[in-house]
Amino acid sequence: MKVLVSVKRVVDYNVKVRVKADGTGVETANVKMSMNPFDEIAIEEAVRLKEAGVVTEIVAVSAGLLACQETLRTALAIGADRAILVETDVELQPLAVAKLLKALCDKESPQIVILGKQAIDDDANQTGQMLAALLKWPQATFASKVKVENGKATVTREVDGGLETIALKLPAIITTDLRLNEPRYVTLPNIMKAKKKALENLKPDALGVDVKPRLQVLKVVEPAKRKAGIKVPDAKTLVEKLRNEAKVI
Ligand code: AMP
Repeated sequence: MKVLVSVKRVVDYNVKVRVKADGTGVETANVKMSMNPFDEIAIEEAVRLKEAGVVTEIVAVSAGLLACQETLRTALAIGADRAILVETDVELQPLAVAKLLKALCDKESPQIVILGKQAIDDDANQTGQMLAALLKWPQATFASKVKVENGKATVTREVDGGLETIALKLPAIITTDLRLNEPRYVTLPNIMKAKKKALENLKPDALGVDVKPRLQVLKVVEPAKRKAGIKVPDAKTLVEKLRNEAKVI
């Protein structure tokens, strides 16, 4: 069984994100970039399915600048078998990524596509759902547990009220939530091995996909600074302040 896993190169989660001086976006020059944390979980899950003998091949995919090759090498070091970069310098929106992934699914025929539930840069939480719609495949988003057997995936999802378990016929789309697994550390021998694995480079045109942005970003601004809080001596004062100053009770 073949699994496709998408991995996005994003600003590292430890970096304090700064807005560009001209308000056109977020500063990425000279900023540490890493694999989107939810995508690390996606690769880890695919590797665990392979170790369990369910999956035979893991293909990692990234779309964006040539530098995304680094992210793909990390995916290969975690355990992906080969990688595909769809190289473009156009700023990609979720619909464009979903169309690229659909074209790759048509070409590669995976049984499962695992994506992160969201990318920590745009926080869109859209690509997996759009891909499922384009492919007309079932989807299980926010997965916290995945079991695959007999052409079926049983997925426990993190939903507002708790957990929900659903069964899906394959092929299907799964998006990962934080508690699905804890990704392994990448070891030096595996980084060395990853250098020898195949990394294919394609252009969106070769997949017949128009990646032009459909949404226009008008302005990006920092969130307003929060005012410092105050300490109150007792509960009575707190209630009085909530009632008379904040007027929330
Ligand atoms: P989003 O819908 O932008 O929040 O992203 C959800 C997931 O889609 C991410 O966790 C990735 O798995 C995948 N994804 C989004 N953009 C890209 C990209 N440029 N390259 C590879 N995967 C992506």
